[in-house]
Amino acid sequence: MSEKEKKKPVPRQPMPEQEADIRRRNFDEVPIGYTEEAAVIEAGRCLQCKKPGCVEGCPVGVNIPEFIQLIADKDFTGAARNLWTKNSLPAVCGRVCPQEIQCEGKCILAKKGDPVAIGNLERFAADYERTQGTGALPPRQDLTGKKIAVVGSGPSGLTVAGDLIAKGHDVTILEAFHKPGGVLVYGIPEFRLPKDIVAQEVGFLERQGVKIKCNAVVGSTVSLDELFEEGYDAIYIGVGAGLPRFMNIPGENLVGILSANEYLTRANLMKAYRYPEYDTPIPKGKNVVVLGAGNVAMDAARTAMRLGAESVKIVYRRSRDEMPARNAEIHHAEEEGIELFLLTTPTQYLGNAKGRLTGMECIKMELGEPDDSGRRRPVPVEGSEFEMDCDMVVVAVGSGANPILTNTTDGLSLNPWGYIVADEETGKTTKKAVWAGGDIVTGAATVILAMGAGRKAADSIHDYLTIGW
Ligand SMILES: Cc1cc2nc3c(=O)[nH]c(=O)nc-3n(C[C@H](O)[C@H](O)[C@H](O)COP(=O)(O)OP(=O)(O)OC[C@H]3O[C@@H](n4cnc5c(N)ncnc54)[C@H](O)[C@@H]3O)c2cc1C
Ligand code: SF4
Repeated sequence: MSEKEKKKPVPRQPMPEQEADIRRRNFDEVPIGYTEEAAVIEAGRCLQCKKPGCVEGCPVGVNIPEFIQLIADKDFTGAARNLWTKNSLPAVCGRVCPQEIQCEGKCILAKKGDPVAIGNLERFAADYERTQGTGALPPRQDLTGKKIAVVGSGPSGLTVAGDLIAKGHDVTILEAFHKPGGVLVYGIPEFRLPKDIVAQEVGFLERQGVKIKCNAVVGSTVSLDELFEEGYDAIYIGVGAGLPRFMNIPGENLVGILSANEYLTRANLMKAYRYPEYDTPIPKGKNVVVLGAGNVAMDAARTAMRLGAESVKIVYRRSRDEMPARNAEIHHAEEEGIELFLLTTPTQYLGNAKGRLTGMECIKMELGEPDDSGRRRPVPVEGSEFEMDCDMVVVAVGSGANPILTNTTDGLSLNPWGYIVADEETGKTTKKAVWAGGDIVTGAATVILAMGAGRKAADSIHDYLTIGW
């Protein structure tokens, strides 16, 4: 193919997906993935810009045109390795990153039409290497004998561990749950991010020498100071922001109201998604309402549909334009039959004599002046109260800092919301030889930002171990 033919406009290759009315009742992954042929065609759409906007839009600076060119040249393993130099979890990021506001949002082709499907190509290269590649380990530097404890095995902790093991250090991850992966395993459902993929990424780290101790609640079973006494030279804290938040309205104690955190953890980590093989105790509502409109709310609503709900409604106090979830996830949810009740908020939960939830009293809202977040403030419309029947409510209105470790550790400065104060460039906390990053510093954010923070901290920890504090 000539250079000119290669660059002529070709439509963005669609991602094949399971049909909505089939997938709404199963937990299999929704997008099926590109074929080799589709990937090569899509890669051929890239203009190989000299000053690529896509790279500026990537929080970890992936060499996007380079890895795409390798796919166009059918060197799929080369593409995966190229991705690894900047991103240790490409199969995860290709699936869950908000590409539409990051790399793809900055792609030059987005100015006049559809951007290059960078996320789909990242997923393709990573999946190819996972399933057909050699599985060869990346090179490791000479052993240093320095010991690092990483608290929490979410994307930030995994990134720190991967980077420091490659630099020759001895790395141990301590994880409170019985499985590593953080939100990637207990939050994001199987139909968006199959557990096998996370397990394989974690296994890859273990093969490189990272040790993982599960069921270790740091701050409760062992303190940071005890870890130093055990001989660790540096500690990274990546414990996330998993503390559930509720609405604080009357009736919150009725049976049938639970946090998205608890609901998704039961569905994911306790394998409710593999019923009847696993008979997990999980509420299965008939008429389910999910409060909130972020990715967590979409995941909870789509999980309820798959667990057999007759109706699932999302209730959100602002309008569609302000919904924080990714557009693709909102679209998928609607295709699966989930109804959106926008500009609506509950004022109280209603129950029966047995203390079980039977419904909610709601009020309609309208948008007023912008608030501190820059979004227009929702204001109740007087006299617009109405009742909505439901037998289960999943509250997905945000989460807070997990206090177990921070409340039991001296010398760590926290901000007024309980998040750890850490240097933006290095991740250094106010406690010597302790770093922090990811959601426990920024508040609930994204996988790639947590990974970016992990990478910066790993560089700083390495400097500390080789040069000094
Ligand atoms: C349902 C859901 C869907 C999401 N969807 C997306 C998405 O599509 N795209 C996206 O980019 N982001 C998404 N996010 C956000 C993203 O998952 C988080 O921003 C990211 O996982 C944060 O990573 P982290 O490493 O900071 O923390 P986490 O992933 O929260 O991991 C923290 C880990 O620390 C462990 N831990 C906590 N306390 C202790 C302790 N005291 N001792 C030992 N271990 C401890 C926890 O058990 C956990 O395993 C979603 C979040 C949720 C909840
Ligand atoms: S901005 Fe778009 S076209 Fe240009 S290099 Fe990046 S992906 Fe390719």
